[in-house]
Amino acid sequence: MTIDLLPHVPLDRVLAANPERSLGNALATVLPKRFVEWWMEEKLSSVPVRSLSRKQCEDVERMLHGWAIMPSGTEGFAKAEVTVGGVDTRELSSKTMEARNVRGLFFIGEVMDVTGWLGGYNFQWAWSSAWAAAEAVTGSAR
Ligand SMILES: Cc1cc2nc3c(=O)[nH]c(=O)nc-3n(C[C@H](O)[C@H](O)[C@H](O)COP(=O)(O)OP(=O)(O)OC[C@H]3O[C@@H](n4cnc5c(N)ncnc54)[C@H](O)[C@@H]3O)c2cc1C
Repeated sequence: MTIDLLPHVPLDRVLAANPERSLGNALATVLPKRFVEWWMEEKLSSVPVRSLSRKQCEDVERMLHGWAIMPSGTEGFAKAEVTVGGVDTRELSSKTMEARNVRGLFFIGEVMDVTGWLGGYNFQWAWSSAWAAAEAVTGSAR
């Protein structure tokens, strides 16, 4: 993953606004201080803004706008929030959630092969598909 830590903010502007500070303290005016302390090696972080070489500025600019990280893994099943995969939607009616080949058999929610972004989409899918199925069965989900 490549992350732009300061979209649309050139390093020059940050440095020009903080000429008396160290590089780390200058960056801490636009990024969380604890992040800067963790992210930037102390030797570079403690260089006074006035003494930064052109090469150092270019390196920091590149790091700021293109911080490359490789995720080391996932948090595992214990922290999983949504299932990927499930009952194939091509086998179901998209209006009623009923199996095309088995009348009276319905699937809703998480058990289907429908995966939303985190943030409510999976709840919405569970509720909406349940509503559609209930409406088809009883005609009175309202
Ligand atoms: C930790 C966590 C956080 C989440 N956060 C979000 C979120 O922020 N936003 C979002 O949109 N989605 C979120 N989700 C996903 C969301 O919870 C599910 O997509 C949604 O609840 C699925 O609803 P469902 O009714 O299809 O299944 P479920 O909610 O899993 O309901 C299935 C029910 O069936 C019961 N059951 C299982 N087997 C049997 C059986 N043999 N007999 C009788 N009952 C049985 C279970 O006990 C359960 O109550 C999260 C999931 C987890 C695990």
